[in-house]
Amino acid sequence: MKSPPCSSARHRVVIVGGGFGGLEAAKELAGAPVDITLIDQRNYHLFQPLLYQVATASLATSEIAWPIRAIFRGRPEVRTLLATLVGVDAGARRVQLDGGDAVPYDTLILATGARHAYFGHSEWEPFAPGLKTIEDATTIRRRILTAFERAELETDSRLQTALLTFAIVGAGPTGVELAGTIAELARDTLPPDFRRIDTRKARVVLIEAGLRVLPGYPEDLSAYAQRALEGLGVEVVLGNAVTECTADRVVYGDRSLKAKTVIWAAGVRASAAAEWVSAPADDNGRLVVLPDLTVPSHPEIFAIGDTVTIADPGGNPVPGIAPAAKQAGRHVANTIKSRLRGETASRAFRYKHAGSLAQIGKHRAVIDFGFIKLRGALAWWIWGIAHIYFLIGLRTRLSVAINWLWIHTRNQRSSRLITQGRGHRDHPTAD
Ligand SMILES: Cc1cc2nc3c(=O)[nH]c(=O)nc-3n(C[C@H](O)[C@H](O)[C@H](O)COP(=O)(O)OP(=O)(O)OC[C@H]3O[C@@H](n4cnc5c(N)ncnc54)[C@H](O)[C@@H]3O)c2cc1C
Repeated sequence: MKSPPCSSARHRVVIVGGGFGGLEAAKELAGAPVDITLIDQRNYHLFQPLLYQVATASLATSEIAWPIRAIFRGRPEVRTLLATLVGVDAGARRVQLDGGDAVPYDTLILATGARHAYFGHSEWEPFAPGLKTIEDATTIRRRILTAFERAELETDSRLQTALLTFAIVGAGPTGVELAGTIAELARDTLPPDFRRIDTRKARVVLIEAGLRVLPGYPEDLSAYAQRALEGLGVEVVLGNAVTECTADRVVYGDRSLKAKTVIWAAGVRASAAAEWVSAPADDNGRLVVLPDLTVPSHPEIFAIGDTVTIADPGGNPVPGIAPAAKQAGRHVANTIKSRLRGETASRAFRYKHAGSLAQIGKHRAVIDFGFIKLRGALAWWIWGIAHIYFLIGLRTRLSVAINWLWIHTRNQRSSRLITQGRGHRDHPTAD
């Protein structure tokens, strides 16, 4: 498909979403003759891969999030707007914002990501929060810490057991990382701080509908991850889909587990990008883009990252991970630059998979680079160095490295704050 002609004035690029894809597109457009408007519903870029560390009191919120405005302070051609996109008028080429404003564009990049989904059971959300935003992470942190506080006060042993039972639904990387870290929190960090309860008796149950943990990884790494989790005391339940979540239990198979804290780490649903531009979508709401990442019939609109579905050159779906969103952001920026140079040929996106990494507790990780698979302590070091490298700014890198050193050497997690609740008597499953 031929690209649209560019206007004679400076080309206006509107990017919606300051996540991994949108941010990378804006960065890659540096030096191009374009004016960029970057719109996000929140004022910060969030490093989602470490959200579980906020949820488990290991890192502070400011260590995994950065104000978008500050990231682009040296780029006068980038305008940042704190607003929520509510629609796209593709005919008039403008986006509509929640406050009623409309922003015109010559090229639009939709990079609005995804949220967790409950397989049609949104009524479970209040009882089993998912992990996607800072608010989700602090909600989960509050519930975990409040459960221990309430167990310390509780005299009914059955209720105390339910308070000290943590169920995680979904054994993908997020579920595995959460389960391992909650087990270590209970086993290593909290015991000296409580007087009546033995936090080491806490149960952490990881429930997965599939037949192995980390289903996207090679089987031997999945088996290793399961053994490592069990070594930390995590109970791994496989081949059981959750059929009910309530305020005090989770039901799977023929079992009903009394648990006051249930965390949802299964299923995602794309943003409404496909609806905004009336484009086809898959079952998870992901917009089906053309090979060059444009929206069908709209070569001036690109969509990237978790909100789209596209196959790699081998025909496999491009995974919903940060490197894929970043590569797509770079691809789109380079397409815009080549169009501005007058090149009209369409450029197909070719995703290159660099590897998959997951941490299991504070000493172990698994890594699948394709040509080599790693596990154990060496994999953990590579995992740690890679994550510190991808953080933004020296201060954050140093701060995260020091925090991890403290966790490793002293078992101390500095962010054990119960915030936004009404105090220790809060019901851990009611906000
Ligand atoms: C808990 C968790 C752990 C993860 N771990 C890993 C990992 O270890 N490794 C890895 O590679 N990937 C990981 N991922 C996946 C990775 O974070 C995503 O693939 C990546 O963030 C996708 O980038 P994106 O730009 O498409 O969307 P996002 O990074 O989600 O950014 C979307 C942006 O759009 C904004 N937005 C959404 N709707 C609107 C709207 N209507 N108006 C304005 N703004 C809007 C949002 O505020 C957000 O800033 C993890 C994800 C989660 C949730």
